Amino acid sequence: MLLGTGKVCIRGENYFNRGYGREWEMEGCQLEFVHELIEGGKWKNDLLKHWFNVVDVDHITNIPLSLYDRKDRLFWNYSKFGIYTVKTGYVVAKEQSEMMNRRLASDPETSWEIRKHTVWKRLWSLNVKMKLKHFLWRCLQNGMATNKALYKRFGISNKICHCCGKETETIEHIFFFCPKAKVTWKLAPVRWEGFVALQGNLWRWWEAVTQSTKETQGADRIKLTVNLLWQIWKARNKLAFQSELVDAKVIIDKAQQEWIEYEAVYESDTRTNSNLEMERQVQQR
Ligand SMILES: [Zn+2]
Repeated sequence: MLLGTGKVCIRGENYFNRGYGREWEMEGCQLEFVHELIEGGKWKNDLLKHWFNVVDVDHITNIPLSLYDRKDRLFWNYSKFGIYTVKTGYVVAKEQSEMMNRRLASDPETSWEIRKHTVWKRLWSLNVKMKLKHFLWRCLQNGMATNKALYKRFGISNKICHCCGKETETIEHIFFFCPKAKVTWKLAPVRWEGFVALQGNLWRWWEAVTQSTKETQGADRIKLTVNLLWQIWKARNKLAFQSELVDAKVIIDKAQQEWIEYEAVYESDTRTNSNLEMERQVQQR
């Protein structure tokens, strides 16, 4: 609001209501119009201080007064001449929304929620077999029956790794630290050397990996990685339940083979769908 003649009613229009529902009490006050609080284009500070508290006085004196003797009018603070335009409205709305996002992101708990949400969203939108998505989801949720998990939950089983017989078998040990896993990653066509420091926490490692989608062949590397993790897990089970050792090269071959097969099926499906769509369009012409 830009006050000109100040013909607005102090009480009726609730002009000085600061928005939190507090009623303005003016017992014994004869003031009726806002212009009674203004003189020579300035607020009458003494009068304001008499009837309002310090915070309200501050709030009121921040309302711009017109330099001319003109009618009160709505004044849009964000444009040069005080007139609302869609463009300035959009800019203000965008700024406020960005400010809110910044505030949310700077809050550690919210930022953690956002990160978790992003990781799950990326996982479920991955173009790999559904069983692989479920597998990885369980790994990330600490839901795999590793020896350590079984030991912790039921007190049974030996928490030592079947393969090396030395370390506690965690999901991270199976995927990265067991000598068999190390050899597998060494020979595999996809490596994540930049994230070695994150291998102690599968969740953090995976989060970093999925952030590489924009890199060259990023999406393909991620898809092959999921297949590799799956085959490493299957090899671990084969050793644990059938006492069969699976060679690192076999793990890699199987991972590549399954990935390529899925891609081929997916591509032919997409092609068939687009052919069907083209045929449908031709028939409609
Ligand atoms: Zn091991």
